[in-house]
Amino acid sequence: MPSINLRSGRVRVALAAALGALVVVPVAVNSLSPAGASTPLSAAGLKITVSGPATVIATQAYKITVSGDDRVCGVMEGTTNQIDRTKPYRLTFSPKNLSAGPHKLSIAAIGCSDTNSFPVYGSATKTVTVPVHVESYSRWIAPASSTAADRKLALKVSTAQAGVTVKLMRGSKTVRSLGSRSTKAATYRWKPAGVAQGDYTLAVTSGGSTVKMRTTITNGWAPMQAPFPRCKTLTWRYDASGEPARAAGIEKDLRGAFTRVSKVTGLTFKQVRTGGTITVDWGGAARFPDGGNDAAGVGGSTVSGGRAVSGGLTLNTASTWVGAAGFGHDANAFPARGGLILHELGHVLGLGHVTSKKALMYPVSSNGSPSTLTAYERAGLKALYPAC
Ligand SMILES: [Zn+2]
Repeated sequence: MPSINLRSGRVRVALAAALGALVVVPVAVNSLSPAGASTPLSAAGLKITVSGPATVIATQAYKITVSGDDRVCGVMEGTTNQIDRTKPYRLTFSPKNLSAGPHKLSIAAIGCSDTNSFPVYGSATKTVTVPVHVESYSRWIAPASSTAADRKLALKVSTAQAGVTVKLMRGSKTVRSLGSRSTKAATYRWKPAGVAQGDYTLAVTSGGSTVKMRTTITNGWAPMQAPFPRCKTLTWRYDASGEPARAAGIEKDLRGAFTRVSKVTGLTFKQVRTGGTITVDWGGAARFPDGGNDAAGVGGSTVSGGRAVSGGLTLNTASTWVGAAGFGHDANAFPARGGLILHELGHVLGLGHVTSKKALMYPVSSNGSPSTLTAYERAGLKALYPAC
């Protein structure tokens, strides 16, 4: 593939003072490909070649992925890897949340040092055009959800040139054509009927470029929120203030719930005394104004950038439910408090309500309701947290 030379000596000279006593071989951004002043940015991304021991960052929210070198000198920007190299190397930029149309990209080659100074040695700019941008889409479609929005696919697309086609595929097979539009912006809505559960690909095509995304059609459970990053250790803290006397020993059931969820999700939970990513506490009349007739608990998370960042589980101090210890049933076949804790923990981890009474995520609990995770929640949690 042809490349254009974007070597720049000016930046190197201007920033030489930042070098201090460091001896660093000068580097340069040698090329960007595909070539051309403005080129379509495909799913394969943009290739950048850099020479010298350097680090490359992009000024926009691009993710740089690198393979074949383990000498990483540190991460300075949230979305940017910095890699120390001694030979010319190549990086691939993957566009992230970049709207359709042309974008000017600035790239700088930075020295990688152990003195916390990162002098700039070379820079380059390039205009790239994003042919298709998917602004939003449903990662999950759950026909059995009690929430209307979860029951259908919603997809919002913008394109650099008019005309876009959307298909739902399974492997290489088109399951359903979701239609074509002759506009630059399009919104699709679709309700699955008679489509099997499983993972599907949404293929969005415009101007000869196709963007593919995974979507999952599932039954019996529904996502409420984005999940936490998978395979991580999450800390949790129990604030016992307000704990009613009948709930004595509930901390043991909380630990039991986290252990059960850990086995399904691959997440590790560590109890801490201060701070904590997930907080478990008690709420009184201010949180549950209907007292014992109100919800026995609530669970949820706060989300940033499509991922849960913190979670909270609040139990109702007036709940009689919290008096029955463990994960079994009481004499009246009513589920013990372990079921309540797991239900709310399901919300914290991303599960929503379902319409099947056989599932723990059914919003109402009564005689014979499950008191621990069922096949529904296991399937839901496994989809949210694929194997590590
Ligand atoms: Zn609930």
